[in-house]
Amino acid sequence: MRPGWVAFVGAGPGDASLITVRGRQLLREADVVVYDRLAGSHVLSFAKTGARRIYCGKEPHVHTMKQAEINACLISEAQRGHFVVRLKGGDPSVFGRVGEEAQACRAAGVPYVIVPGVSAAMAAGAYAGIPLTHRDYNASFAVVTGNRCHPHGPIDWAAYAHVETLVIYMGLAAMESIANALMQSGKRPDTPVALIHAAATPMQHTTVAQLATAAEVAVHVRAPAIIVIGDIVRLRAHLAWAEQLPLHGQTVVQLCDDDRFADDWFADDPLPEAAFLGAAVTVRPLLRACALPDEPTCVSRLLEAQCIVFASGYAVDAAIRLLVAHDIDIRRLRAAVCAEEETARVRLAHYGLRATKTEGQTVKTEGQTVKATEQTLTVHHGEAHAHAIVLGALHEYWRTPTAETVWIEHSWQEAVFAQLPAAVRPRTIGAYAFDAAL
Ligand code: SAH
Repeated sequence: MRPGWVAFVGAGPGDASLITVRGRQLLREADVVVYDRLAGSHVLSFAKTGARRIYCGKEPHVHTMKQAEINACLISEAQRGHFVVRLKGGDPSVFGRVGEEAQACRAAGVPYVIVPGVSAAMAAGAYAGIPLTHRDYNASFAVVTGNRCHPHGPIDWAAYAHVETLVIYMGLAAMESIANALMQSGKRPDTPVALIHAAATPMQHTTVAQLATAAEVAVHVRAPAIIVIGDIVRLRAHLAWAEQLPLHGQTVVQLCDDDRFADDWFADDPLPEAAFLGAAVTVRPLLRACALPDEPTCVSRLLEAQCIVFASGYAVDAAIRLLVAHDIDIRRLRAAVCAEEETARVRLAHYGLRATKTEGQTVKTEGQTVKATEQTLTVHHGEAHAHAIVLGALHEYWRTPTAETVWIEHSWQEAVFAQLPAAVRPRTIGAYAFDAAL
């Protein structure tokens, strides 16, 4: 059996586009993805369809899987020959327990790699317009946990009172005692404090206070948050940008009609316009390929047909996949192949098959996956099925209260539109507007 291994991958602070290229490549290869709440569901969509996704919790105060169970899970999956991605919010090495999990892997002889990610402190600094260093303000910053249940006992805040810039993770609940301890040890009560909730996500919200009032303000800030304490916070008044973008706070689901496009949009496509305007953009396929029935009759129909009409590129892929699954050489197809759509012609060409013209064919596509007439076989993707799948995929995103949708022209959009939950307010944005559907 091929030996398994583990990749600890930093998912970044929550915006899927902030994962590293390496992290995304590994995620796409993973057989199993073990993830925390903070890893972000959008990042998870980079894993391949068949990958097993195991949620291991890490809600505040609720540890769905205990640390020992997570370690055991990583090891047992790898020992079964799987490639496991352990996906962690932010950077795995910053309050991410990667040390404990890697130690357990090392002890069990399981090989691993560690891929860094954008840690919340870096994301918060950048997106709140608070550089963590600036020559006019500081020469250093310290990263500290505010969680008082730290295994090494309470944090020695007096020791941090003279650090120029403090960046605190998990500090909301202890804000009052942190502020008091810092002030007692000499930090000025008017030192500026920024509390940045959900940095680099559509929910980002920054509140600025002074050390003396930070505890009152912190009560109204929800986790996750980064707290920055220091004069450098003053720069935000001049440098804030993310929360001021016109579509800040909006999640845009951009629809496309091709699985492959959705897969590769980071790599090959320009950033959607909505992203420049501050929206969190997720590209989802409106249409997804579905498999042909894996039955001998379906295979023999393909092999015996004299003419096969492919209704789309998906249909071509589905037919070829079926032949490959049955270990059948593609040259056994004796049919003339026709393309009803350009996408079908392109996919046929990909497999070295030249489409003959469909003109003059009287072929009906009636929403079934495979339809045989006497001599002609029509293969298409099954619209109804595809609709159901796609609506399922989109519902995932509609759950966020701020979700909005941008439509790209597509013949099905009106049908899908009719099924939008009432909570979603469809809007047109820039070049993606398609008014006819609104
Ligand atoms: N490994 C992670 C940190 C995990 S500890 C990293 O490198 O970012 C969890 C804490 O990180 C949260 O309590 C919060 O303080 C901080 N955090 C994580 N994501 C955040 C985000 N998007 N915005 C603000 N704080 C965040």
